[in-house]
Amino acid sequence: MFPTSIAGSLPKPAWLAETQKLWPQWKAQGDELRQAKADATLLWIKAQEDAGLDIVTDGEQSRQHFVHGFLEQVQGIDFEHKVKMGIRDNRYDAMVPQVVAPLKLKGRVHAFEAQLARAHTKRKLKFTLPGPMTIVDTVADQHYGDKVKMAFAFAELLNQEALALQADGVDIIQFDEPAFNVYMKDAADWGVKALERAAQGLTCTTAVHICYGYGIKANLDWKDTLGQEWRQYEQIFPALAASSIKQVSLECYHSHVPPHLMKLLEGKDVMVGVIDAASDAIETPEQVADTIGAALQFVPKQRLFPCTNCGLAPMDREVALKKLQALGQGAELARRRYG
Ligand code: ZN
Repeated sequence: MFPTSIAGSLPKPAWLAETQKLWPQWKAQGDELRQAKADATLLWIKAQEDAGLDIVTDGEQSRQHFVHGFLEQVQGIDFEHKVKMGIRDNRYDAMVPQVVAPLKLKGRVHAFEAQLARAHTKRKLKFTLPGPMTIVDTVADQHYGDKVKMAFAFAELLNQEALALQADGVDIIQFDEPAFNVYMKDAADWGVKALERAAQGLTCTTAVHICYGYGIKANLDWKDTLGQEWRQYEQIFPALAASSIKQVSLECYHSHVPPHLMKLLEGKDVMVGVIDAASDAIETPEQVADTIGAALQFVPKQRLFPCTNCGLAPMDREVALKKLQALGQGAELARRRYG
C-alpha cells in the first residue's frame, strides 16, 4: 500500500555541476563527466533506497535540464544558436535551441543512465521524459510553423526512446507536462493526444506529471497570481481520465489545488504530492501521513501513490535528502494508520 516515489529530478552534487540552478554548467568533460554522472546516479539510487522509497529514478543526473537533455540527441535542432524565448506563457525567459529541419533521433538518448540504474537496483525503476507539449514550449520553431504538427513530430521521437527504455527494463515511463497547467485548452484539445502518441505501444506503466513548476522565484511569483483556488487541473483531468495513460502525478501539499479535483481522475493511479518542492522546510512524517489521509477522501487506497509535488533539482542536496526520508517515513506511518 502507498508505494512511494519522487517526481523525478534530484540535485546534482557540487562535483558534477553547478548547484541550485535549473540549467547548471557541468564541472567536467568527456569521459570524466560520464563517470561523474554515473557516480551521481548510483549515489542517488542508494539514497532513495535507504529512504525506503519503493520506486526509484536516476534523479536526472545525466541531463542538464529535463527538456534540453532530450533535445541534445535530436537531429534538426540547432544548439549552437540559442535564442531567448519567454516560456510557459512568458512566465520566464530561457535560452532555447531552435528547430531548423525535420526532426529525427540521432540514436538512443538515455540508454546510458537507464541501463546503469537498472543494473544497480532491484526496486521498481521509473524514468522521466519531457512531454511533447512541454518540449514545444521550450524550443524555438524555425521549421514546422505549426505547434501541433511539431508536437506530434516530437511525440514520435519520444515514443521511439520510450519503447527502447522499456526494453532496457524500465518499469514506469513518466512524461512531464508542466505546460498542461498553462495551456489548459490546448492540453485538452491536442496535448493529451500527443502524449498518447508518445506512449503508444508501451506495455509498461505509463504516467504523466503535471505541476506548477520547480521552486524557482518566477514560479513562486506566478503562483501568487493564481488566486485562492488553483483550478487548472479541472480543465485537463477529464481528458486524462479518458486517456490510456495509467498514472497521474499532481501537486497537493501546500498548493491551492482543491483536493476534490482528484476525483476527476477516477480509474487512474494518483501520485499525490505530499512533499513541497518549493520550500526548504522539511516535512514531518506526521504531515506527510496527514496529507495522505486527506487525499484518501478522494482517491481509493490502492490507487494512492505518495510522491513529491515536483522535481527537487534546484534544491540544496541535504534538504532534498531529508525530504526523501520524510517521504519514506510519512508513507510508513500512513500504512500503519490507514492500513
Ligand atoms: Zn514538476
